[in-house]
Formats: sequence, C-alpha cells, structure tokens
Amino acid sequence: MAQPLIFSTGLCSNFSGEGVEKRLSCSKWKKTPSHLKLSSCSRLNITAGYNAHPQATDIPRQWYNLIADLSIKPPPPLHPQTFQPVKPEDLSPLFPEELIKQEVTNDRFIDIPDEVIDVYRLWRPTPLIRAKRLEKLLDTPARIYYKYEGGSPAGSHKANTSVPQVWYNGQQGVKNVVTETGAGQWGSALAFACSLFGLDCEVWQVRASYDQKPYRRLMMQTWGAKVHPSPSDVTQSGQKILQLDPLSPGSLGIAISEAVEVAAANADTKYCLGSVLNHVLLHQTVIGEECIKQMEAIGETPDLIIGCTGGGSNFAGLAFPFIREKLGGKINPHIIAVEPTACPSLTKGVYAYDFGDTAGMTPLMKMHTLGHDFIPDPIHAGGLRYHGMAPLISHVYELGYMEAVAIPQTECFQGAIQFARSEGLIPAPEPTHAIAATIREALKCRETGESKVILMAMCGHGHFDLPAYEKYLQGSMVDLSFSEDKIRESLAKIPQLVS
Ligand SMILES: *Cc1c(COP(=O)(O)O)cnc(C)c1O
Repeated sequence: MAQPLIFSTGLCSNFSGEGVEKRLSCSKWKKTPSHLKLSSCSRLNITAGYNAHPQATDIPRQWYNLIADLSIKPPPPLHPQTFQPVKPEDLSPLFPEELIKQEVTNDRFIDIPDEVIDVYRLWRPTPLIRAKRLEKLLDTPARIYYKYEGGSPAGSHKANTSVPQVWYNGQQGVKNVVTETGAGQWGSALAFACSLFGLDCEVWQVRASYDQKPYRRLMMQTWGAKVHPSPSDVTQSGQKILQLDPLSPGSLGIAISEAVEVAAANADTKYCLGSVLNHVLLHQTVIGEECIKQMEAIGETPDLIIGCTGGGSNFAGLAFPFIREKLGGKINPHIIAVEPTACPSLTKGVYAYDFGDTAGMTPLMKMHTLGHDFIPDPIHAGGLRYHGMAPLISHVYELGYMEAVAIPQTECFQGAIQFARSEGLIPAPEPTHAIAATIREALKCRETGESKVILMAMCGHGHFDLPAYEKYLQGSMVDLSFSEDKIRESLAKIPQLVS
C-alpha cells in the first residue's frame, strides 16, 4: 500500500513518466480485496489532487529560450573598455563554447543532454502542490499552488543549472571550475554537480558567511570542493584587499573578482555563475515547462504567477514558459516578481548599462540596477542581495509583460511561519518573499470573493537558515529603514553611456 502513495506525492520520482503511470494506475488494485480497494484508490486520488498528477509529466527534453519569442530583442552586453557589443570569443576564457552559444542564441528550444536528464531524475519532476491548508488558514477562496524545488540534493533550484554547466565544461575537457558564493546556496549546488562529473571545484565564499554559516561550507567540502574564505591570499585581488584591511568581511563583488581572476589565468579552469545570465535562466525553464503540463493535467490555469527575484533565475524558470503562453494569447496571468525592500532593483533601480560586479571587471549589462557598488543591508535573504537584475528579466519588465513589488523582511517571515505551520515546509529566506506576496493576493481574494488561481515558486528549503527564524521568533528581526540617499549615491556611479 505504502509505495504508490509515496509516488503519488511526487517527492520520489526517479522513474520515467511511464513507470510512474503504471504504478499509479488504479487498475492495479482490481486484484486487491474489495474492502481495501476503494480506500486505496480514493486516497490515491485525493493525494494526486493535492499534487497535480506528477505522473502526467516526465522531465522536459528541452529548455525554452524566451528571447526567440520577443519581437524586440534585449540590448547586448558591452565590452567594459570599448563599449562595443561583447563578441562570443571575448567570453571564452571564462565559459565553455556550448554555454556561450546558449548565452547568445535566438533558438526557441535547446535540447537537454541525456546525461543531464539522467541527473535531473534524482529530484525531477518536482512536485506541484496545492496549499489547501494555507488556503484554509487564510480563509480565502483563492486556490494556491506551489512548485517546490527544494528536493534537489543541494536544497534549491540552483542544481537545475549547476548540473548542465558542469557537464558542458567537462565535455570540453575543463578540469576545474571556480565560482563565488555568499551564504553558500550556489557553491553547494556547483560542488554537488562537480562531484557527479568528476571535475574539481573551488569556491570563494564571502568571509562573513564562511565564518558564521559553516553548514553550507561543510556541504561543499563533503562533495569534495575546496572552499576559500574571500578575500583570500591566493589571488592578487584578494591580497590587495587584505593588505588594506586584514579583517575584511568580504563581499560578493570581491569574491567574483577572485574567482574570475583564477579562471582567466588558467587554461583548464572556467568560471560558473548561478544566476543573472541568459544561459542560467534558460536552464531553469525546466521548472515552468513541467509546471505547464502539471497544471493542464488538473485543468487549472494560473491567474497570478509569483516568484522571488535576486538575480532572477528561479522566477524566470517558472515564469518564462508561461509568458510564452501569454504572448501566444492562450492565457493572461499577472506575473509578479517579489524583491526585498532592502534591495529593490526592479522597483527602485534604474534601467541602465552597469557592471555585474563591484570591481567593474565584467561586461556592462543593461539591467535594472541600484549601482554596482550598492551594498544592501544585511537582510536574511542573502540570495536576494544582488545590486542588479538579470538583463532578460529587466527587458521583459520594460516590455510590460510582468510586474514587481518589494516587501520588507518581517512581513516575509510572518508569512513563512504561517506557511510552515500549515504546509509543513520551512522555506528558505528568499522564497518567503513569494509567500508574503501570495498571502497578500489571497487576502485580497477574501475581500473580493474571487477564487483566483495563484501559482508560486518555492525555490528552496530553509534548513540551513534557521538562525533567521530564531531572530524572528525571538522578536529581534527588524525592517531596516530604506535609504533613498544611499541608492542615489550608488546610482551616481553607474557608467554614463550615450545610448
Ligand atoms: C540563490 C537563490 C535565490 C536567488 O537567486 P535567483 O537567481 O533570483 O533565483 C533565491 N532563492 C534561493 C533558494 C536561492 O538559493
């Protein structure tokens, strides 16, 4: 009895759709004694109803490239010295050829390599879950669904891109990949992928979290990665900072400079990035492609699609395939990105060419930015503290296909506690923003009596972020006052281009 019910939750889906379908088929129960038969089948149906039939979907065979369907293409990245559009070969010291191709392609669909699909099977297809208990708690007529990406070995959506990035590097003979990480979500996803494909992995982790958050560092080390606190004495950029301030707590910008320096200096070493770039958003579209089929299977159409945005990859991963359907006139959902009030790049930033890193080494990208040396307050959602937004999301936002809202962290954690106590999952600090926006919308529905269908991106669990919950539960979490002056100051340092 137990086995089919486990499959029906979708949390254990290492089998092809066909296999799961067979396991789930009620005809299997015909041989069962009649007193068991009815309850088994009906329990199965109820569970599947919560979970929107994971058996209806297999893992997508292709990633979706939204650029193909945009009549106005996004502006190109520019070389930081010449201000001319970056050529693919400019990127080859840092990235393997296939990823550069994906970065610039106008093709609509890109085949996912079989080896990558084989790894995706460890946690994909991911469950789509109806949050019935949260609906009840909020007393709302809205129907709330969440697509849960926290079941990957590293605990978030980031493995959807770390796996193909490492695989393409391995195919090109690259032996070592390097990256930066803040709290360690991205570093751990990359270390996991490297352990599977036999590449070496070196991570520069921002000193402050290296010291304060040992668990993700230990995950990286368990998967065999070498982890440096950043600033480190193994790079010139790190040494320079340490000379000025031996106790520097580091920053993401410094850590990027260190990783990029090592990749640029070594022929067998490449650099990986966990968000922002087109190819990263592309890989994440497995989330939305699966979800479209899961929603179709239960006859639901989303009225609202909500996700949190740091660099924008989990949000794009869920939303872009639905935006394709929206552009095709098939559906017309409101699509809402949620950012922290402490780092509001879409709602308060400017749309301009700016650097991706603090030191100004990366190409200039046209994006919503708070300025490349904007340092946000230390909110708990570390993954949402990036100064910019993915250029492709910024472009889609300018075209008016989506909206954005900023929410303060105490409201987010209040929502997270409600979510944890009704749905069970303890969310990472980042998706608490999506939860808070979802709760706002669900409460609006309670006012108006509308039964909207809300689809939310639940991109990771918070098992390594419990100190944030401790702060909230003790009542010591605060909303840091938002400073217009600070933003004005950093915006003044954005390069002035005549465009
Ligand atoms: C990294 C991370 C984010 C922020 O990155 P996006 O590219 O905006 O998705 C959000 N949530 C989790 C759980 C993360 O690990």
